[in-house]
Amino acid sequence: MLAAFEYFAPKTVEEALSLLSKYKDKAKMIAGGQSMLVVMKQRLLTPEYLIDIKGLTALDYIKYDEKQGLRIGALTIHRAIEKSPDIQKHFGVLSEMEGNLATIQTRNWGTIGGNLCHSDPAGDPATVFIVLKARFKLASSGKERIIEAEDFSTDYLEADLKPNEMLIEIQVPNPPPHTGTAYEKLMVMKGDMGVVGAAVSITLDSKGGCQDARIALSNAASIPLRAKKAEKVLIGKTINDGLLTEAGEVAATEADPPNDVHGSAEYRREMVKVFVKRVARLALEKTKAAR
Ligand SMILES: Cc1cc2nc3c(=O)[nH]c(=O)nc-3n(C[C@H](O)[C@H](O)[C@H](O)COP(=O)(O)OP(=O)(O)OC[C@H]3O[C@@H](n4cnc5c(N)ncnc54)[C@H](O)[C@@H]3O)c2cc1C
Repeated sequence: MLAAFEYFAPKTVEEALSLLSKYKDKAKMIAGGQSMLVVMKQRLLTPEYLIDIKGLTALDYIKYDEKQGLRIGALTIHRAIEKSPDIQKHFGVLSEMEGNLATIQTRNWGTIGGNLCHSDPAGDPATVFIVLKARFKLASSGKERIIEAEDFSTDYLEADLKPNEMLIEIQVPNPPPHTGTAYEKLMVMKGDMGVVGAAVSITLDSKGGCQDARIALSNAASIPLRAKKAEKVLIGKTINDGLLTEAGEVAATEADPPNDVHGSAEYRREMVKVFVKRVARLALEKTKAAR
């Protein structure tokens, strides 16, 4: 049974923010409700005021600009990201990631903002946004701030979001030339949450050396984790199989994975090694196709 709450369905972002600023930590937002209803049923959250933002169509958009890159409104559903021609063309990794996120039914209702704000370390999008150097725009009444994707999750199911703030937009810069980005997760069945996942972005210089690398892990710690030591294994070198193995091994030492019915911490560490190597190889392959 859900605890009693008062329900609001604001028609504008300003109205939603004003409700948040009035009720602060007594209020919670609900977008698709796919994660929110679960935590409410478990009584992990018992908001007195529930602000339903699903109808805020002003935040349902995907915009691409050659100079500014990609901007995705927080109320955009997963399926729209998967199917967007601009995303398929310029940020194929996002479309591929979404194609393996849950089922079509779930993707047709769940929002990207809800996914990120739920801050589940097993979630797929956060990890990919970290390697794409994305930034999130947060708003409260009369104020806005920008936060790097990698700083957004602060702990298990906790995000750097003040009680009067909401996520408005995800901003993804165009990657430099010769950049390849890939994401894969270990799924028992297609569409499952990953037992672990790895996102890797590699930028090559004009001589084919690794100019920059970003590695992030899902379900390998209490937050989506950037594996900075593993990145350093690759940066400034000519990547070969031995270096990819080493990057995987170093990433496994950075991970602090959970121990649960889906896999022991030890098994997950082994899988981090396998997935970092495999996904980095894919990212490297993709640099060839990138301009
Ligand atoms: C069957 C199933 C399978 C799934 N599989 C996967 C998977 O494989 N990979 C994966 O990554 N995810 C998976 N998910 C999670 C799913 O993607 C998320 O539940 C969904 O995206 C959350 O979006 P929502 O719109 O339902 O958010 P809600 O449940 O409405 O909200 C989630 C949280 O975010 C807050 N919130 C929502 N929007 C905002 C905003 N704009 N600003 C501030 N706070 C906000 C809410 O207050 C709440 O705390 C799965 C979910 C289900 C039900």
